[in-house]
Amino acid sequence: MIDFETAVSEVLRQTYALETRTIRLADSCGYVLAENVIAREPIPLFDSTSVDGYAVHSDDIISAVSSSSVNLAVQSTVQAGDSRVLHLKRNHAIKIFTGAPMPLDADAVVMKEFVSEENGKVSFHEPAHPGENVRKRGAEFSEGAVVFSAGTLITPPVIGMLSVLGYLSVDVYRKPKVAIVITGNELRAPGSRLKRGKIRDANSLTLVNVLRMLAIVPVFVVPVRDAKKAVLSVMKKALKKADVIISTGGVSVGEYDFVRDVMAELHVQTIFWRVSLKPGKPNYFGTKGRKLIFGLPGNPVAALVSFELLVRPALLKLQGLKVENQISFRARLTRDLRKKAGRMEFVRALFTKNSGSELLVAPTAGQDSHMMSGLAKANCLILFPKDAEFLPKGTIVEIRILPWQQW
Ligand code: AMP
Ligand code: MG
Repeated sequence: MIDFETAVSEVLRQTYALETRTIRLADSCGYVLAENVIAREPIPLFDSTSVDGYAVHSDDIISAVSSSSVNLAVQSTVQAGDSRVLHLKRNHAIKIFTGAPMPLDADAVVMKEFVSEENGKVSFHEPAHPGENVRKRGAEFSEGAVVFSAGTLITPPVIGMLSVLGYLSVDVYRKPKVAIVITGNELRAPGSRLKRGKIRDANSLTLVNVLRMLAIVPVFVVPVRDAKKAVLSVMKKALKKADVIISTGGVSVGEYDFVRDVMAELHVQTIFWRVSLKPGKPNYFGTKGRKLIFGLPGNPVAALVSFELLVRPALLKLQGLKVENQISFRARLTRDLRKKAGRMEFVRALFTKNSGSELLVAPTAGQDSHMMSGLAKANCLILFPKDAEFLPKGTIVEIRILPWQQW
């Protein structure tokens, strides 16, 4: 049995980024850049106004004060998208709208709110600083600047920035092909009517959907009986088709637990089996070449918590993300917590904010590892350290936010 922290580092040590490919910008959300993205032209490309108002030579209104305003004739109007090249004449102003290109020789824009216009004349009541309300060409990036480096996760605003930069396709790491294998004679499909002894499979759809949130569509999801032959044939196929196999169940010490035997038969190298972790002790991890095989426990809570703690970091690294220690937050326990020493425990919990914006946290009802509701109602996991036995109410604890919640 190995420590949880060792298990995570072993998983990451065996995980390499996948190959890269070029995809359309429109489809790139959730992928990771495999190239540095360069500004191929200055951003912004031209000087423009950031407000609605009047473009001026700042020198022309240098003497403007509220008691003695300066009046300038309005030379013309320019709106966003206008591609004419206008030259501002001295002692004139050009009416200009947000986003419009700056007329040549104008060096400032005075906001509409601060002037009065009448009969083609506009009165300025204070001077303008050169550069005021002007977005300068190249102010955000000069040509050739690195805007994003390889390893950047593509999020909606990254796509926005890539749009600004003129990219229509990007080089990214490909997504892993994942096979899901669900073991258990007792399992029936969700929605089934149940005969005595049978239960509905909670893991397939949970895993499919947690993968979907990572923009990964599994190559297959197969239920399999607890029979060695059946497990062997499914795993053979999974090894052929996938980069990552995630199985649930059949990995403990029971006489009908065949996952480890089958892996040995398929020449998968065992990296670890059993982690001092709760929920999720009977966790198997093996490799074959660069393929990763996760044998998660069958208990739905243990399966999903193990996925979060062990599989997610690997899936992120495969996709080119630099996986560092997961960020945790601190919160104050509002209930006593007890356990036996010896295993790191991740307690399913709900955090809230008190009036002083301090985070408070309490375990959810239904903590047994077969009780899915305790996880379904949680928004975080409390880290209950391996050798601790008692955390009294009021203790500041570390929590990890569950990534599928919305804030
Ligand atoms: P196992 O890890 O196969 O020994 O299973 C541990 C417990 O989890 C048993 O009570 C199983 O019935 C249950 N279990 C295993 N797989 C699933 C599943 N896909 N959905 C719901 N419960 C499961
Ligand atoms: Mg089983």
